[in-house]
Amino acid sequence: MSVTSEKLSPAILAEFRAIVGSGNIVTNADELLVYECDAYTLEKNLPDVVVLPKTTEQVAAIVKVCAAHNIAFIPRGAGTNLSGALLPIEGGVFIALTRMTKILSVDYRNRRALVEAGCVNAWVTNAVKSRGFFYAPDPSSQSACTIGGNVATNSGGPHTLKYGVTTNHVLGFEMVLPNGEIVWLGTQPEGGEDVGGYDLRGAVIGSEGMFGIVTQVLVRLTRAPQAYKTLLAIFESVDEASQTVSDIIAAGIVPGAMEMMDQLITQAVEAAYHFGFPLDAGAVLIVELDGLSAGLERQAARILEICRNNHSREVRVAKTEEERALLWKCRKRAFGAIGRLSPNFLTQDGVVPRSKLPEIMRFIRATSERFQLRIPNVFHAGDGNIHPLILYDEREPDQVRRAVAAGEAILGKCVELGGSVTGEHGVGVEKIDFMAKQFSKEDLDAMRTLRSVFDPEMRCNPHKMFPGSKRCADFAPKKQASA
Ligand SMILES: Cc1cc2nc3c(=O)[nH]c(=O)nc-3n(C[C@H](O)[C@H](O)[C@H](O)COP(=O)(O)OP(=O)(O)OC[C@H]3O[C@@H](n4cnc5c(N)ncnc54)[C@H](O)[C@@H]3O)c2cc1C
Repeated sequence: MSVTSEKLSPAILAEFRAIVGSGNIVTNADELLVYECDAYTLEKNLPDVVVLPKTTEQVAAIVKVCAAHNIAFIPRGAGTNLSGALLPIEGGVFIALTRMTKILSVDYRNRRALVEAGCVNAWVTNAVKSRGFFYAPDPSSQSACTIGGNVATNSGGPHTLKYGVTTNHVLGFEMVLPNGEIVWLGTQPEGGEDVGGYDLRGAVIGSEGMFGIVTQVLVRLTRAPQAYKTLLAIFESVDEASQTVSDIIAAGIVPGAMEMMDQLITQAVEAAYHFGFPLDAGAVLIVELDGLSAGLERQAARILEICRNNHSREVRVAKTEEERALLWKCRKRAFGAIGRLSPNFLTQDGVVPRSKLPEIMRFIRATSERFQLRIPNVFHAGDGNIHPLILYDEREPDQVRRAVAAGEAILGKCVELGGSVTGEHGVGVEKIDFMAKQFSKEDLDAMRTLRSVFDPEMRCNPHKMFPGSKRCADFAPKKQASA
């Protein structure tokens, strides 16, 4: 029996049950299978138990039980993470926030809303759009992912180019520390925006669930733009589309979003959602302008000119709000369409300077040929954040090996081009080995020191992010040597 299982004795499970009630705890092995991985499906392991609290006090009580028995725990939102940040490497306790979903208050005068951490991202905008507001960070997973998960991964999305990432839209939050203490970091719900002292709010955002459990979040609301102009530019090649992205920014225009899909993903999306994308186009570029209606026509005309200079075959403009919504649905559900192409895929998340987009896209094509795997691309081109989707079949061990190697080659190239191994999906377990390539030992030591301020016993989402972390195999029962 593993150390963790010994710790999770019936008596400990009874303590959890006493806190949340027997309807809010999962111990059955079949049901635990749902939690064996997040959206990074290459590695899997079962947690020992999933506890689903409904209040901050319940979260704190569960965390105190974990502290008293020296048990590892992992905060969990919707499980859409793409880098294995939720992998329960040595089992342990999942504390899932998916029953804490309320929008607690909306303050239009001060443009902020207080929400529980399990609230789904899209629900915030849905709740305030009739009053002319929206919540700006819009990951493509926004119909499922939670605000707590967004805080922990500092999520971006298609509109990051103009509006920034989660940290730019979160004023403060309540958090349960790994010892069970409840703290508030950043702006208080009733407080002024500026708080003195170090920006611990900023330090926690993007910490991948390793500093504590966020339970309530005070988010900033943004005035919805007066008008949108959404264009679909069709190109013969990815190179021409990439050059267009660079030229638009060089012209001093900052669209709300610039998203690219190459031919393979466009074909899959068209088969799934029937938008009318041309199946023979090398790449399509979605460019969305937003703001005061007065200036949009002039900017759109300039973008049209830039597209033509880069030999675009055609540029379409969304004529109605329905057409715009359908275009975004196609883009945001593109990953879902991949099921038509392959049983499994590995989503990469590198960043390169925008001017290097043509080069990295050429490298991805060469990598696809080298490893004999298809690699469609759909990504936030405006901020140089690439998402190559490496297609493989997990039933073929050689394909798995080649998929991992192809991913490593692409991320290595991103670093070589002056970029980063993660734009928005985080490090998790997937990119641990790259941390030492991107950061010096001193940088990593400083990160470890910061982490230990919040979690000195390293029990909160352990074995993530840092080189030298243990993997599932290290905890697997050792096979008996055959006689
Ligand atoms: C189809 C698809 C599209 C995506 N598109 C984007 C995109 O455009 N931009 C982008 O940035 N990401 C994207 N992602 C990745 C993912 O959706 C985001 O990282 C999202 O923020 C994760 O939220 P979640 O609620 O699913 O968190 P989870 O996956 O449950 O957890 C993610 C991490 O956050 C921690 N965590 C979760 N909740 C809490 C909490 N309350 N307190 C402390 N830590 C917590 C977990 O421990 C884990 O480390 C996409 C994923 C998919 C599957």
